[in-house]
Amino acid sequence: MCGDPLYNIFPYEYRGEQEEIESLITNTVKSGTAAVIESGTGTGKTVVSMAGALKAAHGTDSKIIYLTRTKSQQKQIIQEAAAISEKRPIVCIGVQGRSAHTCPMMSKDPENSTGTSEELSRLCSEYKKDDGTGRPCRYYENIGRTDMEGILDLVRESHPQPEEFSEYCLSRELCPYEMVKHLIQYADIVAAPYSFIFMPHIRERFMEWAGIPLSKTILIVDEAHNLPDYLREVMTIEYSTKAMALAEKEAQEWNDPEVHAGLSVTDIIAVLRECLNEALSQYLTGDDGMMPYTFLQDELMDRLGMSSHSLNMIYKGLMDHGEMIAEIKKSKKKLPRSYILSLGRFLSAWNTADEETNIFLIVGGENPKFQAYCLDPRAAAEPLRSCRSSIHMSGTLSPLSDYTEEIGLPEAAERIFPSPFPAENLKILYVNDVSTKFDEFNNIPEVYERMKDHIISIAGAVDRNTAVFFPSYSIMERFLRDDTLERIGKDAFIERKGMTQPELMEEVSLFKLSEGSILFAITGGRISEGLDFPDKDMEMAILVGIPYPKPTAKQEALRRYYDMRFGNGWERSSKIPAMRKMRQAIGRLIRSETDRGMAVILDRRVFNLEDIAAEPTDDPRAEVLNFFGDGQI
Ligand code: SF4
Repeated sequence: MCGDPLYNIFPYEYRGEQEEIESLITNTVKSGTAAVIESGTGTGKTVVSMAGALKAAHGTDSKIIYLTRTKSQQKQIIQEAAAISEKRPIVCIGVQGRSAHTCPMMSKDPENSTGTSEELSRLCSEYKKDDGTGRPCRYYENIGRTDMEGILDLVRESHPQPEEFSEYCLSRELCPYEMVKHLIQYADIVAAPYSFIFMPHIRERFMEWAGIPLSKTILIVDEAHNLPDYLREVMTIEYSTKAMALAEKEAQEWNDPEVHAGLSVTDIIAVLRECLNEALSQYLTGDDGMMPYTFLQDELMDRLGMSSHSLNMIYKGLMDHGEMIAEIKKSKKKLPRSYILSLGRFLSAWNTADEETNIFLIVGGENPKFQAYCLDPRAAAEPLRSCRSSIHMSGTLSPLSDYTEEIGLPEAAERIFPSPFPAENLKILYVNDVSTKFDEFNNIPEVYERMKDHIISIAGAVDRNTAVFFPSYSIMERFLRDDTLERIGKDAFIERKGMTQPELMEEVSLFKLSEGSILFAITGGRISEGLDFPDKDMEMAILVGIPYPKPTAKQEALRRYYDMRFGNGWERSSKIPAMRKMRQAIGRLIRSETDRGMAVILDRRVFNLEDIAAEPTDDPRAEVLNFFGDGQI
């Protein structure tokens, strides 16, 4: 088999340990097990994992599902598929969540741009029946008259990116979403967001389109270090004050329907609001607070004078009324959204949430909310145990056994492949006289002043694009309110809280285009985890403090959960995530074998973090000047 030219599909000359990684993946898939792999920048993990999995899938009816968190990663998968196709033609389809933007019928109504995939799917089903002229949506109808074989050949030959394919379809009055759905069955590789596998209602439909059961899929999880937290979020339910206000407004618009036993929707919301205020006054300590599992149900029964059976009737009544509103809106070609439906679903889900795996929180802030936070990601990770094989890859995944245990993989090969780039191209230092430890940073003014002096002196030492990563927005704001940027005296770009993706990308591209500028960003934020800064785009990183999580009730519960399951709660809940975030931020500096970069960590506690190979220094400015020569090159 190995002599078969169709089998040898790696499209480049192997370098470093690529061949070894590829054969590890091939063998893993063939044996129907899992591999958990940390592979540093430059190991070419995308193309290596695709080629390894394709080799094992060759001649079988398995399909590779490459799961990504970002659209840019999908782009790379399709580019690599084009390169592999030079050796053996393959079909690779990029699928993205449903969006009103790519639907000519829905894009006209701005409200649809906020629609969830469920809402848009419902609205689409209405358009498929009638586009407003008594005929089905023509973009849907035209698909039946399309030469699918021809389009499949086009995908096989030209490997369009999702945006390009969407434009191609629209120019021919074909629905891009439906076309992708149809083509998935022919794909060797499907690049999809995590949600397509880990959200049960989306997975069910996705598998139908793929035309195979989950047991025949090979799942490649990209940036797998994100997966445990992502899975927790998938299982978490919450309901906020703003959602209550929206449900109340909707009830008023729909004559405040009676739900059960003389109680209207607004009566129930009024009582729920009382319960929320009671929870805030009894349990909130700082950002959030733990509530007893039964608090909400008991309070509702008490305040409404009802049994749990009657409460269930109320929840059902809310959902029925909400469904009715959604249906009426749908029939009028409006977004089939109902806030009353969301309220009913929340109360019903909260009532049945598992006490063993969830904690029940009241969260404060500008928009207080109830939250049932899922601590254990294993249930949501079930697809990884039901698929044919799974490959988990990241540049920052160690300790690998922690990851394997946490998501409940039964058997996994675990390997670390370091970056092949010259180690001397990256220098990491730390200073000993500062820290963002709460008591020191907040209560000793000299510590803050020294921190500021370090930032100013290091950032001003050389004319190189420099990022200053802060452990939180609040700490960054403190420096921004002060004269830090004025004293650095360079052009500055800032990752602000709540920025939209286009706003963020604009800020980043201006920084990249500049020379010798400063970028203020967040360790663990969108810039430090997802964006590439090759060559001179970023040459120096200053990490202010260690991004340990805030000591909230949720964080404490997570620590206790890890303690009970593994016995090392603090390491798993605080230390390892902090190290991972720091490694991700530092990793922005070196994206090719010719990149050179320097990171300076402003926190004495780094010596405790074994995964951060930093050396101490008393004079970081001199070290920077030394590393970059005279600093003017
Ligand atoms: S079939 Fe496609 S174009 Fe027609 S309404 Fe649905 S998503 Fe929109």
